[in-house]
Amino acid sequence: VNIIGGYCCYQLESAVRQAFHESRLLNELAERDGLTRLYNRRRFDHNVERLWRQSRRDQSQLTLMMVDIDHFKAYNDCYGHQAGDDALVRVAEVIASCAQRPLDFAARYGGEEFAIILRGIDLEGARNAGERVRSLVAAQCVDFDGKQIPVTMSVGCSTLSDCPEPSTTALVAIADRRLYAAKHGGRDRVVAEG
Ligand code: GH3
Ligand code: MG
Ligand code: MG
Repeated sequence: VNIIGGYCCYQLESAVRQAFHESRLLNELAERDGLTRLYNRRRFDHNVERLWRQSRRDQSQLTLMMVDIDHFKAYNDCYGHQAGDDALVRVAEVIASCAQRPLDFAARYGGEEFAIILRGIDLEGARNAGERVRSLVAAQCVDFDGKQIPVTMSVGCSTLSDCPEPSTTALVAIADRRLYAAKHGGRDRVVAEG
C-alpha cells in the first residue's frame, strides 16, 4: 500500500508540476511578440498602468519613450519583407538592452513601433536614454547581401511630471506628439519637450 501510495503521489506531483510549467509557457507566449520576443502591446497596456500607479504612490519619476523606425515602408519595398523582419529583430535587441534594470520595460507597441518605460528618470535623463538608444541603432547597420544598410529611428519622450492630467493616456499622447515632432524635424532624432 505504501509503495502504491508513494507512486500515486509522485505521479500527481509531476502532473501538477507539468501543468504549472505549461500554463507559465502559455502566459509567456500570450504576452510576447512572436517576431522580436519583446513584450507585446497587451502586456504594455497592463504594465504601464501598474507602473504608473506605483510611481504616483511612491512619488518616483516615470518615463515613456515611443520609438518608430524611419522610412520602414521604403526599407521593406527596397530590401524585401524578410530583411525588414531581420531589421526589426536587430532594433528590438538594442531596445531590450536599454531596458535592463528590474523595473524597466520594453515592448513592441505595433508594426515598427516600440515603447520603453524607465523608472526613476527625469526628462533630461529620458532625453539621454533616448539619445543612447537612437545612436546605438544608428551605429548598428543591418547586413543585407553583404551590404551594410543603415536603420534610423525617431523617439518621443514623456515623463509623469510632464502630464497636465494624471493618466497613462496623457503619458502616451505626449510621447506620441513628440515622436511626431521628431519625424517632422527630420527623423533620426529624440524630442523630449514641446
Ligand atoms: P515614417 O518614417 O514616417 O515612420 O515612415 P514609415 O515608412 O516607417 O511608416 P509607415 O507607417 O508608412 O510604414 C510602416 C511600415 O512598417 C509598413 C509595414 O509594411 C512595415 N511593417 C510593420 N510591421 C512589420 C513587420 O512585422 N515586418 C516587416 N518586415 N515590416 C513591417
Ligand atoms: Mg509607425
Ligand atoms: Mg516608421
